[in-house]
Amino acid sequence: MPDLACKACASTDVRPSRQKESGDAERAGLGEHPYRCRACGVRFYAPGKPDPRKRPLPQRLRDFWKHKRGPFLQGVFFFLMLALFLLCLRYLAHYQPDNSPPN
Ligand SMILES: [Zn+2]
Repeated sequence: MPDLACKACASTDVRPSRQKESGDAERAGLGEHPYRCRACGVRFYAPGKPDPRKRPLPQRLRDFWKHKRGPFLQGVFFFLMLALFLLCLRYLAHYQPDNSPPN
């Protein structure tokens, strides 16, 4: 997107804004889509539909981490607890008390 520049600071370091705000649909009807400036954080509209598939992978990973961090960490935490629980079960299943009667 070389022709895209921030309306406030003229920086070209802008990305498509995924934040939904009222008025986006009307602007989309006019062929304009929301963008966010990485330099100053200003949200503005510019013509041209952003293609999320063309975004670089690091940015997509950053977005994933930013928006899906909570559920992702919950999943990891749940998995760790499950593993711990299974380890405890394993330990209990193989536990032999020291004072067990001799055979
Ligand atoms: Zn800016």
